[in-house]
Amino acid sequence: MDYNKLAELLFPHIKKTPEEYEKIYPQRNLPADAKVTRLGPSPTGFIHLGNLYGAFVDERLAHQSGGVFFLRIEDTDDKRYVEGAVDIIIDSLRFFGINFDEGAETAGGSYGPYYQSERGEIYQCFAKKLVKQGQAYPCFLTSEEIEEIRAKQEANKENMGIYGKYAICRDLTYEEIEAKINAGESYVIRLKSSGSTDLPPEEMRHIEVEDGIRGTLSMPENNQDVVILKANGIPTYHFAHVIDDHFMRTTHVVRGAEWLPSLPIHVELFEKVGFEMPVFCHTAQLMKIDEETGQKRKLSKRKDPELSLDYYRNEGYHPAAVREYLLTILNSNYEEWRAENPLAAIDDFTFTTEKMSNSGALFDLNKLNDISKDTLVRIPASELREFMADWSREFKPEITHFFEDDCAYIEKILDLGRAGDKPRKDLIYAKQIFEFISYFFDDYFKIEDDVPANASSDVQDILTEYLASYNHEDDQSEWFSKIRAIAEKLGYAAKPKDYKKNPEIYKGHVGDVSTVIRIALMGRAQSPDVWEIQQILGEERTRARIKQFMS
Ligand code: GLU
Repeated sequence: MDYNKLAELLFPHIKKTPEEYEKIYPQRNLPADAKVTRLGPSPTGFIHLGNLYGAFVDERLAHQSGGVFFLRIEDTDDKRYVEGAVDIIIDSLRFFGINFDEGAETAGGSYGPYYQSERGEIYQCFAKKLVKQGQAYPCFLTSEEIEEIRAKQEANKENMGIYGKYAICRDLTYEEIEAKINAGESYVIRLKSSGSTDLPPEEMRHIEVEDGIRGTLSMPENNQDVVILKANGIPTYHFAHVIDDHFMRTTHVVRGAEWLPSLPIHVELFEKVGFEMPVFCHTAQLMKIDEETGQKRKLSKRKDPELSLDYYRNEGYHPAAVREYLLTILNSNYEEWRAENPLAAIDDFTFTTEKMSNSGALFDLNKLNDISKDTLVRIPASELREFMADWSREFKPEITHFFEDDCAYIEKILDLGRAGDKPRKDLIYAKQIFEFISYFFDDYFKIEDDVPANASSDVQDILTEYLASYNHEDDQSEWFSKIRAIAEKLGYAAKPKDYKKNPEIYKGHVGDVSTVIRIALMGRAQSPDVWEIQQILGEERTRARIKQFMS
């Protein structure tokens, strides 16, 4: 067979040579150890935690080394294209502090186009090269014929796919191919794999790949004649990945573990087109403990709202908290580093792929909440106020004025109990924060809890005494002495421990009395320090709430 002639028959319109593309996309001018990484999402409009997790690794590897992180849109499957999806990807990642240096929708970048749908000629040029080398061929099998092959393989318990004796189009002559094309038969281009097809997998030649996360991988070589160009001339993932990551000069391909089984295909393709391989970093799947079964399982789009990045935006997680949390699941030494460097900027931590887990990263919302508490404690109230204003503008505009009008008032509220060595860690995410502080706003103030049963008949007396003795100028200890005095006067122990010793001589203790006051003021049996809250509410509002509860 004259492969040059075949290549011209299949790709008469491809005039550029592989060497020309090497010149158009030269090696990047970067320091020797700078890493070039990319995110290659499909524009489906759904961006999930797994994307963020991978993007975070890409971003750190590139920016820690003075390299480049770019965005490539993998839109070869146009059935999945959703209008506006690219902006959603960029915005969502930017919110979490992840910015691209180059690629789709950003200014600059000389390695484009960054949409795979616009790179048709480049892929075809290299499919043509493989045909010329006798390493790719047109395959005219129809879907019915492929289905028949599949059924036969199933019946004979053979490996699935197009290989060896099933790769019948490998043997077509030039004349046969030409006749089929002239007859308008549709065809794909397949790789002519050189993998052995008559050996069981354990006896096949094994390839070894050094994975940045997993170390040395050893796998049976590929022996499948995989499709590289579909009937419409559009490449499959396998082929587009090899061509794009070479010409965009990617040094590290960070992608999910679901791509591991196809790695041998990629290794063969890199070899045949004659490109050097990037370093592969196959990240672990995001897992969670299933609430019902208690077993580890993959996060699912259908069952787990927390898989979607929108979830964190809607709930109002602070991006710094999400970043902190991602690092704890990404790098096993991160928590230790954070404990030693509580105030350091997160980017001071040196992220490495070697410290990544390869057996499944466990995602746990409770842990995120704990980390969020620790993160928010370090954020000044003024910044939190702005964060709340931004969040509410998008998700709860009817409350935005609370965070914009009286800044001093809201900042005192957000700072409540946060001074000192043992700051309170009440604040987790915007929706919860608003709920937590809502009693400070008259429109949202409501009585949520019941007064303690043993004090219920004394509510009027307790509050009458309280109003009578209340002096807004009292300091915290003067204020509390007065509560003790009220307790004693009405038959409650002034100290809980006295009550414990002789419960029969008291109605209850000072805690029950203060809970009545707490409920009158905040509507809740639990809250930060009552005295501090009254100082923020002001005298007038404090008295008004007590009176309102009594009426
Ligand atoms: N488009 C692929 C995906 O969304 C990208 C995989 C890769 O990073 O190579 O899974």
